[in-house]
Amino acid sequence: MGTTRYDVVVVGGGHNGLVAAAYLARAGKSVLVLERLGYVGGAAVSEAIFPGVDVRLSKYSYLVSLLPDQIVADLGLTVALVDRTVSSYTPLRSGGRDVGLLVQRPAGERTRQSFLELTGADVDYDAWHEFYARIEILAQDLAPTLLEPLVTAEQIEPRLRDPQVFTDLRELPLAAFVGRSLIDDHVRGVALTDGLIGTFADLHATDGLANRCFLYHLIGNGSGQWRVPIGGMGAVSASMAEAARRFGAELTVGATVSSVGVDASGAEVSWTDETGATHAVSADAVVSGVAPQVLDRLRGRTPAPRPVGAQLKINIILTRLPQLRSGLDPAMAFAGTLHVNQAASQLDSAYAAASAGRLPDPLPFEVYCHSLADPSILGPSEHAAGYQTLTLFGLHTPTALFDHDNDVVRTEATRLAVEGLNGVLAEPLEDCLALDAAGAPCLQAASPLDVEAALAMPGGNIFHGDLSWPWASDASQVGTWGVETDEPRLVYAASGGAVRGGAVSGIGGHNAAHALLALD
Ligand SMILES: Cc1cc2nc3c(=O)[nH]c(=O)nc-3n(C[C@H](O)[C@H](O)[C@H](O)COP(=O)(O)OP(=O)(O)OC[C@H]3O[C@@H](n4cnc5c(N)ncnc54)[C@H](O)[C@@H]3O)c2cc1C
Repeated sequence: MGTTRYDVVVVGGGHNGLVAAAYLARAGKSVLVLERLGYVGGAAVSEAIFPGVDVRLSKYSYLVSLLPDQIVADLGLTVALVDRTVSSYTPLRSGGRDVGLLVQRPAGERTRQSFLELTGADVDYDAWHEFYARIEILAQDLAPTLLEPLVTAEQIEPRLRDPQVFTDLRELPLAAFVGRSLIDDHVRGVALTDGLIGTFADLHATDGLANRCFLYHLIGNGSGQWRVPIGGMGAVSASMAEAARRFGAELTVGATVSSVGVDASGAEVSWTDETGATHAVSADAVVSGVAPQVLDRLRGRTPAPRPVGAQLKINIILTRLPQLRSGLDPAMAFAGTLHVNQAASQLDSAYAAASAGRLPDPLPFEVYCHSLADPSILGPSEHAAGYQTLTLFGLHTPTALFDHDNDVVRTEATRLAVEGLNGVLAEPLEDCLALDAAGAPCLQAASPLDVEAALAMPGGNIFHGDLSWPWASDASQVGTWGVETDEPRLVYAASGGAVRGGAVSGIGGHNAAHALLALD
């Protein structure tokens, strides 16, 4: 390392730390990023996780919606995202028959027909259409505010074309908000799952927890579209790292930060390299790219309570896609998000079970196939052999369920997920699983505890904590970037600390950089 003093040290090289570093370096700051793992990207990485199988899976996060086009343009990112022509497919049994609800994007005649077959009337399709049209208008009006200093909800309201939907989303329990428009149990469930991704929440509560998660899932770039990152999630982080380097930031991996001291005169950051040698570096300011609880520890403070993680993530490689009982072409069924056991009533039962300390049975989950949209993640022989990838994301599996015996509960949760998937398949999933070099099936599950251990995400909460509403909580936050701490020279970039953090968005990183640059 050439110097031991920088304008800014970024602690943690997750994608938000990288985005902050890129913006700060672009503005002429000398920047050092310190990342404890051997690579940057945090939860936005790709890896060939099965020995002998050349498939680079998005190991944790997998779809992109919240990354603003403005950040891509500002930093010259080479991120390629493709739309999915199918939004979702929900295979289910109705009237003794295996059927399914297909929602295409854009929804057209085939989607209308699918609603009609399921519910027997056009009313649900019309209601669905109207519901999402209103949400999209809200998303279009709110999305530009994410990269601006905070204003209150009251200040946002006059800018909205549909203030009523804004009020209702904030004030009604999510189940009531959705339930006023959508009637069918399965149709409701498809909508409600957006309130539960990575969030253990009661859909009937007035705490707004599920509502905030729902809004984040529908606001991205004003469309709420979840798009496939070509090359996998690692390509997104790699592009951010490349931008940070191009603007002059130094990125050091295998650098575990052990303490952060900041006051009005500047900052001191200590870290340990992979050989165990310790280093100290001084800076004018520090960007925290780590979770708030991690930063608390590094500052020698008592950490805030451990957040609750909610999800089971399973990475799967198949030799081919399995057939479905409903008979829909698997290339279409798996082209969007496949919902299983996610009717509104099933989500309620699952929440009740998990709250009582039991794994939900049936387990609600959704499945996504990356390789259909982007086979570039497959090695040449896997591509030639027709391999496919599946990402399974389980809901209502909170951290506490795993605390007693992670291995045992993870195994049982995985069994429930496979059983649930087999329930909608015409052939056992097991018949389609690829094998690794040792002959073991390519199926790897991660509980919230596994995510916590691998990524230093407290509680395995994928957003580093409960999501906030993306506006000022009170007048004191107005005009800030929502990333400030009690020290002006220390700001958050990471998901949990930033008011508009959470998910692969880079918004926290953008806002952290702008907060520091405003001090000049
Ligand atoms: C299983 C899973 C699935 C997800 N799916 C999606 C999805 O499909 N789409 C989406 O948008 N979001 C998804 N998310 C959420 C999203 O990935 C995260 O919210 C986001 O990546 C967080 O980025 P970040 O940069 O804020 O923090 P992180 O990615 O957590 O990065 C923090 C970095 O700090 C490092 N660090 C920690 N402690 C230290 C230390 N002491 N010294 C140095 N470095 C340290 C960590 O190693 C890490 O690299 C998912 C997350 C998970 C876990």
